[in-house]
Amino acid sequence: MSATPITDALLMSVHDSDPATAALVAAAQHYFVPVYRPRAAVLDHGRGARVWDIEGREFVDFAAGIAVCGLGHADPELVAALTAQATKLWHTSNVFLSEPAIRLAEELVAASGFATRVFFCNSGAEANEAAIKLARRWATAQGRPPERRVILSFQGSFHGRTLATVTATAQPKYQEGYEPLPAGFRYAAFNDADAAAAAMTDGDVAAVLVEPVQGEGGVMPAAPGYLAALRMLCDRHDALLICDEIQCGMGRTGTLFAHPQDGVVPDIVTLAKALGAGFPVGAMLAGPKVAEVLQYGAHGTTFGGNPLAAAVARVALRRLAAPELLANVVRQARALRAGLERIHAELGVFSEVRGRGLMLGAVLAEPHRGRAGEVLDHAHRAGLLLLQAGPDVLRLVPPLVLTDADAAEGLDRLRIALRGFLGG
Ligand SMILES: *Cc1c(COP(=O)(O)O)cnc(C)c1O
Repeated sequence: MSATPITDALLMSVHDSDPATAALVAAAQHYFVPVYRPRAAVLDHGRGARVWDIEGREFVDFAAGIAVCGLGHADPELVAALTAQATKLWHTSNVFLSEPAIRLAEELVAASGFATRVFFCNSGAEANEAAIKLARRWATAQGRPPERRVILSFQGSFHGRTLATVTATAQPKYQEGYEPLPAGFRYAAFNDADAAAAAMTDGDVAAVLVEPVQGEGGVMPAAPGYLAALRMLCDRHDALLICDEIQCGMGRTGTLFAHPQDGVVPDIVTLAKALGAGFPVGAMLAGPKVAEVLQYGAHGTTFGGNPLAAAVARVALRRLAAPELLANVVRQARALRAGLERIHAELGVFSEVRGRGLMLGAVLAEPHRGRAGEVLDHAHRAGLLLLQAGPDVLRLVPPLVLTDADAAEGLDRLRIALRGFLGG
């Protein structure tokens, strides 16, 4: 194993941990394609917004598996839905039908208020890939030649890691070295309606792909009126509006979907992350203008609509759409914002706290820019699972079932972590 390069940070943490952790961390380093740099802990089990590692250390979870575990960990109703389905039928493929996916599609259509059909897949990238393919087919059906089927997306966006979705992801760090990238993508500055208008004047844009709150790009909400301006541009230039709600959807911002907060009706919405509350599943929701575009044989995936995934997602959807849950998002978002303000008043570390609902970004002030990763190391030591969104932004995306006690304890640990960061 000595041939595997081990980062200094990882070595440091391995040295403080017990032999079982150290052995598993070393095995991960040895056997995984090293595209990730996980913290040197091995998580074992969770309950609500708390997680324990194999050494029995407790963490407050402000990460939720990257905005996935909306209902926290080991929710009894989710466990019951999964285990009940597990004793019946695991997989059918789309050559045959099973009830959970049919019911889930029906319930998503009803909850969406705009969609008439659903395509199921297994991840966010696949949901966006389906949306991009649908947009291309839609433009094709209108007689537009290939060069007039452009997908417009925005700087700082994140749409996935497949070749098409990484091309839509307008951040060079995700694209470099993967050229040649697919053709027919264009970028404009985010939150700048004039820039979008300029990018669409040729009338060659088939679809505009936008996150109502940018996640990976730094937790950046659409400015008031921006999505409505994009909707108007799409109508004027006969383009589709695709909202990528993979991170900001499913209750995260305080409403089941994010786009209604901006008063827009999209043509397509993509979902994944919290849709299965931790069980992998993605979906593309299509409105009436485009729902008939993809016909028999046009697209597909073996696992799409898997009964286990659909059985869990049905429970997740019902629970995440409940008014009490959404009220808790608003309540805990207020608590976290107030707590971040208090921490800032004491330590002066943030230049801005932004986001919507329980999707919050605390931007590190000068001279701490670029050091979010170090704060995460301190958070880990203080018993807090925390994320970053780029090198400057601490990202808080806790389970939406966060309690008052979880919020208070997590903020306490964040304060300790930041004091350690500033002192060290
Ligand atoms: C995570 C994410 C994706 C990609 O989802 P995967 O399941 O990782 O493929 C796409 N768009 C947004 C906004 C995301 O946050």
